[in-house]
Amino acid sequence: MRAALPAPLAALDELVGNLHWCWHPPTLDLFEAVDPALWRACGQDPVRLLGEVSADRLAELAADEEFRWRLAERHQELRQYLTEPRWYQTLGGDVPGLVAYFSPEFGVTAVLPQYSGGLGILAGDHLKAASDLGVPVLGVGLLYRSGYFSQGLTPDGWQAEQYPALDPHGLPLTRLRDADGTPVQIRVGLPEGRVLRAQIWQAYVGRVTLLLLDSDLESNTPAERAVTDRLYGGGVDHRLLQEVLLGIGGVRAVRAWCARTGTPAPDVYHTNEGHAGFLGIERIRELVDTGLDFDAALRVVRAGTVFTTHTPVPAGIDRFPRETIERFFGGDNASPGVPVERVVALGAEADPSVFNMAHMGLRLAQRANGVSRLHGAVSREMFSSLWPGFDVDEVPITSVTNGVHGRTWLARPSLELAERAGLADLDHTAPDAAFAAVSKAPDVDLWSVRGELRARLVTEARRRLRISAAHRGATEAELGWVDEVLDPDVLTIGFARRVPSYKRLTLMLRDRGRLERLLTSTDRPVQILVAGKAHPADEGGKKLIQELVWFADDPRVRRRIVFLPDYDMGLARHLVAGCDVWLNNPLRPLEACGTSGMKSALNGGLNLSVRDGWWDELYDGQNGWAIPTATGVVDENRRDDLEAAALYELLENHVVPLFYDRDQAGVPARWVGMVRHTLRTLGPAVLASRMVADYVQRLYLPAGAASRRMSADGGAPGRELAAFARRVSESWGEVTVEHVESSGAEEQAATPRLGATLRLRAEVRLGRLVAGDVEVQACSGRVAEGDSDELRDVHTVPMRLTGDGVDGRLRYEADVPLAHAGAFGYTVRVVPTHPLLSSPAELGLVTYPLPG
Ligand SMILES: *Cc1c(COP(=O)(O)O)cnc(C)c1O
Repeated sequence: MRAALPAPLAALDELVGNLHWCWHPPTLDLFEAVDPALWRACGQDPVRLLGEVSADRLAELAADEEFRWRLAERHQELRQYLTEPRWYQTLGGDVPGLVAYFSPEFGVTAVLPQYSGGLGILAGDHLKAASDLGVPVLGVGLLYRSGYFSQGLTPDGWQAEQYPALDPHGLPLTRLRDADGTPVQIRVGLPEGRVLRAQIWQAYVGRVTLLLLDSDLESNTPAERAVTDRLYGGGVDHRLLQEVLLGIGGVRAVRAWCARTGTPAPDVYHTNEGHAGFLGIERIRELVDTGLDFDAALRVVRAGTVFTTHTPVPAGIDRFPRETIERFFGGDNASPGVPVERVVALGAEADPSVFNMAHMGLRLAQRANGVSRLHGAVSREMFSSLWPGFDVDEVPITSVTNGVHGRTWLARPSLELAERAGLADLDHTAPDAAFAAVSKAPDVDLWSVRGELRARLVTEARRRLRISAAHRGATEAELGWVDEVLDPDVLTIGFARRVPSYKRLTLMLRDRGRLERLLTSTDRPVQILVAGKAHPADEGGKKLIQELVWFADDPRVRRRIVFLPDYDMGLARHLVAGCDVWLNNPLRPLEACGTSGMKSALNGGLNLSVRDGWWDELYDGQNGWAIPTATGVVDENRRDDLEAAALYELLENHVVPLFYDRDQAGVPARWVGMVRHTLRTLGPAVLASRMVADYVQRLYLPAGAASRRMSADGGAPGRELAAFARRVSESWGEVTVEHVESSGAEEQAATPRLGATLRLRAEVRLGRLVAGDVEVQACSGRVAEGDSDELRDVHTVPMRLTGDGVDGRLRYEADVPLAHAGAFGYTVRVVPTHPLLSSPAELGLVTYPLPG
C-alpha cells in the first residue's frame, strides 16, 4: 500500500498501471523526471518509483506547471491509444469479438519477470502487437511467485540460482474483484477431494488485458499454495498442477473476467505451446453441461481453437505418465460426461504409457501451426502419424513465422533515426515504407547510430561485469581491469539465449587458438558478449556456461570476451541493439524460429547464423551470413568441428575484413550497405505486427467463423459433424477403389506433350456411405526418383461422379493436366467430405487402391 498521489498527479497512477509505458519512451522520460536518481536506483521500475519517491518531491511536482503539462500530454496520448480505432477495426465483417491467448509464460517487461526465454517473450510481443493493431486479445497465464530464477555465478563460474519472491502488490498488477470489492477466486477440483484455489491478477498491456492466476492464498493448503511458486520448477506432479491451473483454471478465470467486465465470451482460444492444452477439456466439460455429448462438444471446441507448436524434437515434447492423467481426470475427480478414457485418448501416442500434450493440442484444435516455414515442415513430418495415409505436405499444420515487437526492441537511437527518416507508424499500417525510409539515411548517420549503440552496450556491460566480478569474490583492487574491458570501436559479436545443448553455446570454443587469434588481433580484433541461463536441473548446460566463463576469465582474452550473468529482457535490449553481429549456431533444424536475431536486425545488426528457423526463410545472401551446416555427418564431434571451422572461416575472411574496410570518413561503406539492406528487407518482415496480422487473417478469422457456425443452435452443427464423423469412421473399412484407368490423345505416346491432359476413370465402392459423404480425388505428380510409388509436387483434383457401374460401384472421372516434364504418375483416392471440415485430412480417413 502506498499513499495516494497529490490530486494534480493522479494521472500518474493510470500511466504506471498500463504497461504501455514499456514501449513508449516519452512516458519513460516522464517517469525519469519524477526523480532521476531514484529512477535509476529503482531499475527503471515505475511502480517502485512511485512507492519510494518522497512526499516533498511529489508536492514539488504537483506545483510544477511544466511537469503537469507533460503529464497531461502523456495521459491524453494513452487515452487516445486505448480508444481510437486501429487496424483490426478497419477489417469489417463478422470478426472475432475476443481471442483468449493462453501461454505458460509472458515476457512483457523485465519489471514483470514471468518468462524463461523465447516462448515467453514471444507471448509478450504477441500481446503488445495485438494491442497496437487493435486485436481484441485476452492473455491468460500464471503468476509465478519467484518467476523463473535470477542467475549469478560462483567464483568457480558455476551458475547459482536465486529465487527472490516477488510481491504482487509491488508489481504493475491489479486484482480482479467482484462488484462488492472481494477478490475473485476460481477453484479447480483435485483428486482425493482436494481443491486448488487461485486469485486473478490483471496486467494491462496497452489495450490488452493479461490475466495471471496465483495460487498463493491462505485458503489453500501449503501444497496447493506452492503450485505457482516457480516457472518450470518441480517434478511431474507439480508441472501437471500448473498446467491444470493454467488450462482449466484459466478458462474459469476468463469466465469470471468476462462476467465482471460484461464482455461476451471469446470466439477463439489460442494455445501457445501444449502446456495450456487442458483448456480444451474444460471447454468440453462446459458444453457437456449444456447438454451436448462429448463428441459434439469436441467438434465445437476444435472449431474455435488454434494450437501453436514450438518444439521441433519429439524428445522436447511435454509428456505425462498416463496414470498421472488417469488419476487426475478419473476417480472422484472425474467430470460427468467427460470420461477419463476420452481424455486419455486425446493425448495418446505410439507409447501407450504416456500422455502427449502436443498430440492433445492437435486433437483439440482444428487449426495448428509451427513458428517458421522450416518448422512448419518439420512439424508436419513429426506429427504425420496423426494423419496416417496422407502425404506429409497435407498434414494440416501450417506456419506463421514469429516476429518481435518493434517499439520494444528498437533502441532509442534507432527509433530516433527512424523518426528522423519519417517513420510515422511503425507497428500499424505501413512498415515497409517506414523501413525503406530509414534505410535511406546517409551512411554517416547510420554508422554513427551503430557506434552510439555499441558504446552504450560497452558501458552497460562494464557496469554488469563489475557487479558480477565482485559477487564472484574479486576485491576492488582486482577490479581495475573491468574498466578496460571491451572497446566501443571494436567489431562486437553477441550470443545470448537460453542454454539447452542444441543451441551450442560453446561451439565458438571448438578451436580455442583460432578464437583467441580473432579476439586478440592487434589491428582487427573482435569482441564477444555472451549471456544465457541454463535450466536449474540442466547440469550439462551449467557445464557449458562454466567452460565459457573459464575461457573468458583468462587474462589473455578477458578484455575481449565476457559472460554477462542474469540474461533478461533488460540485458537483451542492450545486447541486440549494440552488437554488430548476432551469432546463432543451433543444431539445424532444432531452432523452431529464434527471435533474438530478429531484434538485432531491427537495430541494424547483421546476423551470422546457421540456416535454421527464421533465418532459413529470410536470409537472402546480402543481409548477413549463413553458417553452412554439416548435414549428413553423423559423428557429432566431427559435425561440430566442421561447423565451427565454417564459422571461423566466415569471421576471418568475410565479417572482420568487411567491418574494418573504411573509407576516408572512417565509415565501412560496404558494411553499412548491408545494414541498410537488413533494415529494408528484414525490418518489416520480423515485426510482431506482421505476425499478429498473419494470425488474424489465416487463423483467428477462420477459427472465429467456424466456431460461430459450429456453436449455432445450441451446437447443432457440432452434433451433425460429430454424427458424420462417427458414421464415416464406422463404415470407412467398406470404402474401396476398385479400378483405375487412364486414356488421352497422347497417352500411348512414349513422351506425352507437356500440357496435354489425361482422362482418369475410377470405380469406387462406398459400402454404407453415399456419394455425398466423400470426395473422390485424382492425385498426379512427378514420380520420385528411385522410389517408384511416391509422388512429388502432387496436384489433386476432385473427380466427377459419372454414373453407377456394375455391382453397386460408382464411376468417377477427371481430366488431369500433365504439368511436369519427366516421369509422371497418378492415383485415385477417397476422402470424407463435409462443409464443416477444415481440411480433407481432418478425420484422418483416406482410401487408396489396393496395391497390385
Ligand atoms: C528474445 C529473447 C530470447 C529468445 O532468444 P532466441 O534467439 O529465440 O533463443 C530469450 N531470452 C530473452 C531475454 C530474450 O529477450
